[in-house]
Amino acid sequence: MLTLDVSTDFNALEDLHSSGVTLKRDLQIVRGEGAYLYDAAGRRYIDCVGGQGAANLGHCHPAVVAAVRAQAEQLISCPELFHNPVRARYQAALCTAANMSRVFLCNSGAEAVEAALKFARLSTGRPGIISTMRGFHGRTFGALSATWEKAYREPFQPLLPGVTHVPYNNLERLAAALDETIGAVLVEVVQGEGGVHPAQDGYLQGVQALCRERGALLIVDEVQTGFGRTGWLFAHQQDGIQPDLLCVAKSIAGGLPMGAVLIGERVGALPPASHGSTFGGNPLACAAGLAVLEVLQTTDLILRARERGQALRDYLQTHLPERAVRDVRGRGLLIGIELRGKVAPALKALQTHGVLALPAGATVLRLLPPLVIQDDDLWCAAEIIVDVLSAETRNAD
Ligand code: PMP
Repeated sequence: MLTLDVSTDFNALEDLHSSGVTLKRDLQIVRGEGAYLYDAAGRRYIDCVGGQGAANLGHCHPAVVAAVRAQAEQLISCPELFHNPVRARYQAALCTAANMSRVFLCNSGAEAVEAALKFARLSTGRPGIISTMRGFHGRTFGALSATWEKAYREPFQPLLPGVTHVPYNNLERLAAALDETIGAVLVEVVQGEGGVHPAQDGYLQGVQALCRERGALLIVDEVQTGFGRTGWLFAHQQDGIQPDLLCVAKSIAGGLPMGAVLIGERVGALPPASHGSTFGGNPLACAAGLAVLEVLQTTDLILRARERGQALRDYLQTHLPERAVRDVRGRGLLIGIELRGKVAPALKALQTHGVLALPAGATVLRLLPPLVIQDDDLWCAAEIIVDVLSAETRNAD
């Protein structure tokens, strides 16, 4: 029988009762502010994990904290069977921001994808879905069926039938697969988990044209790219397309669990009870979501993401040793550094030097710093990344 001092050893206590599905780092985070995270010993880290994409506004943004605090004292739980003024305002603000007419509110990215797949089936009556190789859309059965990574999918077969994966950034292969059985094409604007692969110029416009021509709906998954991350409020706006269904989550509500599917004019009526969610559209999340939209629409954070992201990619491209790095890519402050070796040792070394970052697959180092990151911290993190990756190559000699 394992004995532990639960008053001090929270890491062991957490491991004892966690499902085990998430591999944890040897680090206990207790506080966050802006682009900083603090461990239990009070050590400060520059956060380029950004809540795995949920912290675009940084940790504990004062506008989000104030909105949540005020709403929590008013009303927290209110299912969608009642009207609610905060939800009404939020839905209007989100639909206007995305240039869409309706929205379904839920609680996570996978739920948003799941809902979009159901809406596409209802609207078109067609069973088929096309998604892309290296795409990631979540881990519930429908979303997992559209996800590419074999290791996530294989243990759970049989998955949803009728899902075809085509190569990303390849319109010919999409055109060949898009027949009259296909109800929807599901794509990311930048494939985040799959290695940070941005859509090439014209690709998404081509996908949209094919969908319109063949009667399929275009579902754009912006769970990771939404809310300013790529230098646009929604990344697809840079590509000049209009999705039929737009999935968002992560940074939608300043770090609170929330997701949404925005629904365009080409989607048919969705009958009552065809889908639903107990927590979806709860006033607490809606209040946080309103605060997030207001901050993004009244500050220069989105422009900063665009400019700083470009500057950071340029810096990394120039300063990273070619012997360690194959490629630097991304849009805005969603950045991937493809290494020639494994990413795990680099992530560990970065943590030792006070920078937290993410992988995107086995060999890509992914950076998702909060958009509020101060310039000093951004360049400090950049220098540490260059030093660490340069040292890694030297060690490999
Ligand atoms: N779609 C994309 C593009 C994602 O990056 C993710 C999460 N990484 C998801 C869907 C699933 O989101 P969640 O973890 O909130 O279910």
